[in-house]
Amino acid sequence: MHCYCVMNHGQPLELVEKQIPQPQGTEVLVRVRAAGLCHTDLHLWDGYYDLGGGKKLMLADRGIKPPMTLSHEICGEVVSAGSDAGEIKVGMRSLVHPWIGCGECATCQRGEENICNKGQALGIVRAGGFAEYVIVPHPRYLVDIGDLDYAEAAPLACAGVTTYSAINKLGNRIHEGPVVIIGAGGLGLMAIEVLKALGGKGAIVVDIEPSKREAALAAGALAVIDAKDADAAQQIIQATDGGARAVLDLVGATPTVTLGIACSARGGHIVICGLMGGDITMPLLPIPMRPLAIEGSYVGSLLELRELVELVKRTSMKAIPVTRRPMAEINAAMADLHHGKVIGRTVLIP
Ligand SMILES: [Zn+2]
Ligand SMILES: [Zn+2]
Repeated sequence: MHCYCVMNHGQPLELVEKQIPQPQGTEVLVRVRAAGLCHTDLHLWDGYYDLGGGKKLMLADRGIKPPMTLSHEICGEVVSAGSDAGEIKVGMRSLVHPWIGCGECATCQRGEENICNKGQALGIVRAGGFAEYVIVPHPRYLVDIGDLDYAEAAPLACAGVTTYSAINKLGNRIHEGPVVIIGAGGLGLMAIEVLKALGGKGAIVVDIEPSKREAALAAGALAVIDAKDADAAQQIIQATDGGARAVLDLVGATPTVTLGIACSARGGHIVICGLMGGDITMPLLPIPMRPLAIEGSYVGSLLELRELVELVKRTSMKAIPVTRRPMAEINAAMADLHHGKVIGRTVLIP
């Protein structure tokens, strides 16, 4: 089978020919029909995350090193399974939950495999979707997508569930007033749709790119604000009638977190799920005195992915806008993402 692999960090992915893997035990073999390209793939390709202050989190220190097959947003059809997989539906149109843990620790038992310390995520630790076939360790990670489009459903596995899980953490606040969304890339557009589908009060979207702000308005944002404006925080405070009660930071960089804190109301809740990195120094007093809740959110659980797929089926909400490209164009697609040229999500088709 064709497989597009990172052989060296920072170098173009290479086309590698491999044997089609044979599923063992509880494993399921899935034929890939669509595989999304995520910012995390760029970090994995680079080999590090920026921790700020010139420090880097090196992925090799966590045992993540080439050769690697990226893509954790995988849709396809069930082909076959190992002898311990139980009944499987051959041909089932599936979205794969890639955020797999060890399955045994207390975290996994609570259903939070996505934050297991021994994570086995597909496309990160295990082989992912930039290939014709992928091995899924257990059929429980397959979510039946019914007649949803493969390419449109693929981004639900990361962009979708990351957004959904972060919005979940805001609880009832989404019904009290608009959520301030920082970052109008793929996740931002997804967040606008999820808020609509959940019956929320809508979103005020902040981005530095005019084209992305326009896309947010077209997707139904109540208002958009240029984060580069010197008075951006003031504009948000005005638009939210005295300060944001709920902020969703989909960028997670020094300026965005700083802005999120500056525009929050007393009692504000900031959820950070962007992984751009950087650092902040801030006085501690405002945390108890305003008081602020600053919470992290990392991808999402299998249950949340199932809920999200059901929500998409039930409300026929528009998932993220996708651009389909042949998988052979993977290197050009990664360059475009790296240069900020992608609106919504790029999905590669084998
Ligand atoms: Zn675990
Ligand atoms: Zn991702």
